[in-house]
Amino acid sequence: AESLSRHPEIRIESRSAYYSTQPIGGPSGQDEFLNACILCETSLSPESMLRELHAIEDQLGRIRNERWAPRTIDLDLLLYDQLILDTPQLTVPHPRMTFRRFVLTPAVEIAAEMLHPPTGWTVRELLARLDTAQNYLAISGGAYPLGSRIARESSDRLRCRFLPDSKAREFEESLEKPVSHENWHQQVTILLARRIDLGKA
Ligand code: ADP
Ligand code: MG
Repeated sequence: AESLSRHPEIRIESRSAYYSTQPIGGPSGQDEFLNACILCETSLSPESMLRELHAIEDQLGRIRNERWAPRTIDLDLLLYDQLILDTPQLTVPHPRMTFRRFVLTPAVEIAAEMLHPPTGWTVRELLARLDTAQNYLAISGGAYPLGSRIARESSDRLRCRFLPDSKAREFEESLEKPVSHENWHQQVTILLARRIDLGKA
């Protein structure tokens, strides 16, 4: 927050409290995380804003290598007005904000009525939904795009609804060979051992 407020084109409107949460997924043995959200007014573009956030991350010593590894700080751009953007560098709204309680809890403190444009729900409604929605099973890992096919096939067997990922589907359609049963079994065993229940986490 201090680094942001020093920038001439960023004005901090409000800050949430810090919430501590146990890490979900990722390598074991990590300390708990502290999460907070900030509402700012800025004349910077979303891309410049992300660059600022990365600069602060680097300054505070995050080593940008292993994904979801222990890190000093992770700064995400959650919402930028009502903008929807999807480029290789930047996705706005942040694609994982809708199911992360540790994001939505502090976000409600500072921007409860702000709309999440793809869903048309407010931040408050997104958080409330986590308490009432069905659980989701997120399956990750496995050789891409095999992972998405395994997710679809497991959803049939587990009688869950499969929520496809449009990018994964494009890849999947470009493949012709079906997944062999043996391979499926092996991959699902690995994946289920690593499953993360996100909805009510
Ligand atoms: P997460 O944000 O889910 O914890 P990471 O912090 O590891 O995951 O993000 C991976 C990459 O996603 C970053 O290097 C960043 O460039 C990119 N990215 C895309 N959209 C955003 C966004 N809205 N906010 C922050 N980073 C983003
Ligand atoms: Mg991030």
